[in-house]
Amino acid sequence: MTAPDRLDLVIRADLALVEGGFRPAAVGVRAGAIAVIAERHAPLESSDEVVLGPGERLVPGLVDTHVHVDEPGRTEWEGFASATAAAAAGGVTTILDMPLNSIPPTIDVAALEVKRDAARPKAAIDVGFWGGAVPHNLGRLRDLHDAGVFGFKCFLAPSGVDEFPHLDDAGLRSAQEELAEFDGLLIVHAEDPAVLAHHANAGGPSYRRFVDSRPPEAELVAIRRVIDGVRATGGRAHILHLSSAAALPLIDDAKAEGLRITAETCPHYLVLDAEHIADGATEFKCCPPIRDEQNRDLLWQGLVDGVIDLVVSDHSPATAELKLGFDGDFGRAWGGISGLQLGLANVSTEASERGIGLDRVLGWMSTGPADFAGLARKGRIAVGADADLVAFDPAAEFTVVPAELRHRNPVSAFAGRRLRGEVRTTWLRGIPVDGTPHGRLLDARTDRSSEGSPR
Ligand code: ZN
Repeated sequence: MTAPDRLDLVIRADLALVEGGFRPAAVGVRAGAIAVIAERHAPLESSDEVVLGPGERLVPGLVDTHVHVDEPGRTEWEGFASATAAAAAGGVTTILDMPLNSIPPTIDVAALEVKRDAARPKAAIDVGFWGGAVPHNLGRLRDLHDAGVFGFKCFLAPSGVDEFPHLDDAGLRSAQEELAEFDGLLIVHAEDPAVLAHHANAGGPSYRRFVDSRPPEAELVAIRRVIDGVRATGGRAHILHLSSAAALPLIDDAKAEGLRITAETCPHYLVLDAEHIADGATEFKCCPPIRDEQNRDLLWQGLVDGVIDLVVSDHSPATAELKLGFDGDFGRAWGGISGLQLGLANVSTEASERGIGLDRVLGWMSTGPADFAGLARKGRIAVGADADLVAFDPAAEFTVVPAELRHRNPVSAFAGRRLRGEVRTTWLRGIPVDGTPHGRLLDARTDRSSEGSPR
């Protein structure tokens, strides 16, 4: 017989991230949740005990709210088995899947069920879903909301796939009005199609020309329009993958005004810059594009200042053929960067060089995204939270070899980079992730909390 207060697992660490800071702790897990946080050497009765090695830190699993899994329909690009395995290998324990690049796109309840059926038998970590807002489902967004999506993604310019058309100005406002009725969340790919059309070029291998075809002005104009809609409707909106630091004052002002607006950026904008991208290197193509070094510094400042709320991957893979098979033509290569497994190592390496602590990095990549999605049980080491935990050695160095990553396709904009920060073990609700599909499907109806988070 086991005592009723016996724990399933105790993890002891010299440094665990608790209440925003690192300190020695013993974290006790029962029935998948964190049941106790005690002194490092506290006597705790448990079925299993793990003592982290010197240098290893215990941190909350990352919550990546921007992942394109692409299954079903484009499973050769990525899939739930490979995406969730790669995520776990990178310390990510929850992903929210984007509504496009899979076929069907998640724009109605039937498509959401198709996605759930695809994910259920394969998910090694927890998976939730965004819905999509496109011209032909406006007026019916409530159905998807009521079916448990976490919010709605829209594009303001062509998305790159024909089955997910973008919203024009009237469509955007209509979506914002509709979502405001039930306090739904709109997440926006904010580039203005008129500005893009004005700067369009014929493609080719020049990276400079590609960047010039998607200027900061495209983001500025589109973000301004989103903010205007938030002001007019009282709704809530989130700016996806902010690339241009020129938009930071706009977002800062909107927040100061009390508007319900948040923003994210991505590891590739924080660790890469245009000065180091060779012509023809289409593995670096993404939209909006990776800009110059000064812009990159300003994005970091935007994070430090709290203007940018989150860092998430925008993991948007494709086959090697689509990324690299066009002789370096930026006009034809797929625009998307595959980085789910490398987010933590990339950002923590760059952060440490900038004198920014791992606690802040996890605020942007773990607690912040969890709060953004309303996942109060995720993204924190706190009593009552899910025991989604990671043993992370921030000093261990490795070189990125694309073929060794768990992503389905061995194409990486980070190939050859020397990074610091190795994930040693990832636990999902107290169980080490080993590829077995123990992941749960998250449902905004039951997993989202409008109340306070566990502390
Ligand atoms: Zn995306």
